[in-house]
Amino acid sequence: MTQPATRAQVELGDTTVTFLPDGYGRVDPEAAFPLSANGGWATHGEFLDADGWLPVSVGSFLVRTPDQAVLVDLGLGVVDFEVPGMASFKAGALLDSLAAEGLRPADIDTVVFTHLHHDHVGWTSEVAPTPETLGRRPAQGLTFASARHLVSEAEWKHWSGTSSPIGPDPLAVQGPLEGRLELVSDGQEVAAGVKIMATPGHTPGHQSLVITDRRDGRRLIILGDVMHCQVQVAESEWGFVFDVDAEQAGETRERLLRELESGETILAAGHFTGHVFGRVLPPVARRAWAGGR
Ligand SMILES: [Zn+2]
Repeated sequence: MTQPATRAQVELGDTTVTFLPDGYGRVDPEAAFPLSANGGWATHGEFLDADGWLPVSVGSFLVRTPDQAVLVDLGLGVVDFEVPGMASFKAGALLDSLAAEGLRPADIDTVVFTHLHHDHVGWTSEVAPTPETLGRRPAQGLTFASARHLVSEAEWKHWSGTSSPIGPDPLAVQGPLEGRLELVSDGQEVAAGVKIMATPGHTPGHQSLVITDRRDGRRLIILGDVMHCQVQVAESEWGFVFDVDAEQAGETRERLLRELESGETILAAGHFTGHVFGRVLPPVARRAWAGGR
């Protein structure tokens, strides 16, 4: 369980959802979840590696409907960097993961961003932002040049004019997207059976994607960063250190978890350790996560 997730696929009627790894990170678990400090991890050690760090997956979800190829989030890009004492990240495999599915960048019809943190926008252009190169490396164009690029209006506005090591780099991400973005909102259908669901808090314009099987109504939700680790299924009050509005993020997480306790909906959580697909089981004493499908 303490490995980053590998490529995995779930079928939902005539649509497939595939996790495409870009790379991985490892983070200091108490720094990542401030409310977990002072022993919170004592009963969740199975998610930590031998050094006591939390391994996190990084990648994209490919949604293939009968006539569309949609990529949800764009990983970190080709990077290898450390935030001393806090985290380290290594990535750059997204296009190889895509090729393993038989697709080239030109085959992607639509890119949807759940939000614009740096680990979700890395392949926007040919320049992969890192904290050291922030605002210093201009990009020529978009990696997925023929695709529509979709983000929520609140998200685009939140980062416009900013330059942050955890946000979208102005030259590598915001610049190339300018004039190419389409703004989307809660409830909007972006491909057949694929709808936007606003899930604000982690960032102001954060959104998830709900994919519904048109024949039997089964659902899969690509969560984005509503949760960063399986432990938050049980410890839903544990906010992530970079939640822009921790209270709203907590409300969104709790609301979704209550809705999902029936275990019928498949969840896709791109930072989870080991498996990115799973379901929420109803509380016996506490909620628990069922990995795999
Ligand atoms: Zn993230």
